[in-house]
Amino acid sequence: MSDMPFSMYGPDFPFAYDQWLQHPAGLGELPASAMGAEVAIIGAGIAGLVCGYELMRLGLKPVFYEAGRLGGRLRSVHFDGNEQIVAELGGMRFPRSSRSFYHYVERMGLKTAPFPNPLTEAAGSTVIELEGERFYAQKLADLPIIFQEVAEAYDSALEEGAQFTDLQDAIRRRDAAAIKAIWNPLVKQWDERTFYDFISTSSAFRALSFRHREVFGQVGFGTGGWDSDFPNTMLEILRVNVTGCDTDQHLIVGGAEQLPRRLWQHAPSDLNHWPVGTSLQSLNQGAPRPGAARIFRDGQTDQIAVTDTRGHTERFAAVVCTCQSWLLTTAIDTEESLFSHPLWMALDRTRYMQSAKTFVMVDRPFWKERDPVTGEKRMSMTLTDRLTRGTYLFDHGDDQPGVICLSYSWMSDALKVLPLDAQKRTQLALSALSRIYPDVDIASHIRSNPITISWEDDPNFLGAFKGALPGHYRYNHRMYGHFMQQHLPAQQRGIFLAGDDISWTPAWAEGAVQTALNAVWGVMTQFKGCCATDNPGPGDLYPAWGPVSLAP
Ligand code: FAD
Repeated sequence: MSDMPFSMYGPDFPFAYDQWLQHPAGLGELPASAMGAEVAIIGAGIAGLVCGYELMRLGLKPVFYEAGRLGGRLRSVHFDGNEQIVAELGGMRFPRSSRSFYHYVERMGLKTAPFPNPLTEAAGSTVIELEGERFYAQKLADLPIIFQEVAEAYDSALEEGAQFTDLQDAIRRRDAAAIKAIWNPLVKQWDERTFYDFISTSSAFRALSFRHREVFGQVGFGTGGWDSDFPNTMLEILRVNVTGCDTDQHLIVGGAEQLPRRLWQHAPSDLNHWPVGTSLQSLNQGAPRPGAARIFRDGQTDQIAVTDTRGHTERFAAVVCTCQSWLLTTAIDTEESLFSHPLWMALDRTRYMQSAKTFVMVDRPFWKERDPVTGEKRMSMTLTDRLTRGTYLFDHGDDQPGVICLSYSWMSDALKVLPLDAQKRTQLALSALSRIYPDVDIASHIRSNPITISWEDDPNFLGAFKGALPGHYRYNHRMYGHFMQQHLPAQQRGIFLAGDDISWTPAWAEGAVQTALNAVWGVMTQFKGCCATDNPGPGDLYPAWGPVSLAP
């Protein structure tokens, strides 16, 4: 296995989703009696579309319900008047370790390119501005020594607190036993402790000043500011680091939303039961049904009924819910007995983080011009403690318009702009950036109306993504394992959960894909199908390698 690419293989459940997908035997087989059976999919984001796509290939008929826009949190919005250039309002940088996500990127023929993260070659240059002090760098070594001390301290803290190198090597080798031997004790040790606790109690950071912790919070590692995650459980951060989510990230050329859209339209040549040319779009007569308003068990047929927002009810042997779990108690009147009380506890305690982004299109990538005096680029990828937090520059070629993500922020910084409109947000961002770049007139280059989003403000999401708090491991465990329903009471069977908030890696599309594939296994099993013996699925290997249980 050691020649396999590095992937998000565990650590909670080391299962090779990428290999399951690529195996010539396929994901499994269904009995003839199940062919063409309808399965409801609530939510046409990437989890719903991956799940539906694979169920269609197995021979089932996915019936989609979508309350908003197909694509969900992979949302790429065109600037008015330019169909080629988009603002990535949701997921925008995808770590190469997201192997099952990339399986679909490649299958749908999408191109990727390195994402212009801080201190990467793709960014070209980075400016870090903290407490009014500004530093220009192309790589870490160009920055003052304190930044290197911070980076080294974090590496040492990971070694000391999490046997980081050994754990990552075990993931690289796909050695499930070695992963579990290191990870399971860490679960007990870190579930109830925060990221900040991890930093502040590590020997490496204790030997340094408060300023070092502050710089770490503002600049972080890999992708920028991490202080918004300080209250989260350390387990979640460890998963990000150890599975390489924060490194080697690519964007999808033309926008991430193309992936769900292509899955919707794609007519696979390798599918069961359906004639060649069948797609999710054709099976759904062109469009998803409107949002789900009610889910309940129909006493007469014992099937699960879904009523949409227009009042139309249909019945299904299986339903897969992929919307954020809070919506099961807000947007959807979900019959309580469909889930156990402990599972309801987990769904309701899920905690979502806030996030805001504001984009503008500019005439050209003017930032690449050099200042004649300093030789520095006019403007760079920028990390700051000001309101904007992260500013990203997207270059589409010298003779093409460029895109600036003026501000990408989370939690308190996102809440500061929540009630403000796009113009006001742009004005505040430009004002903050003018203090960092006093000689650059960014506004004179803007050619579009700004595009902005606050995910917490949208009733179809209520937040950007899950950020698990200390003590949430047990909740995650309940939600993630729910796709195996053989031992559930009959009234709780047939409704499945998927989406990155059900996964161990919230905020990463790979988590949405992995849980969608769990749901595929669950639905297939419910219809008395099974995996090939030489290509076992997640539910087959879960008893051996599933997540460690913590005492109730
Ligand atoms: P969603 O995309 O939320 O899909 C659920 C769908 O359900 C939505 O379309 C919603 O409209 C629909 N719905 C809601 N209510 C109902 C209802 N009543 N009936 C029917 N449908 C309903 N991931 C990365 O890998 N890299 C990144 O850089 C990254 N950055 C991100 C930045 C932001 C700001 C955000 C918000 C997310 C980011 N993510 C990133 C995460 C990634 O976008 C998600 O993991 C992924 O898109 C989630 O897909 P999903 O299908 O699980 O959920």
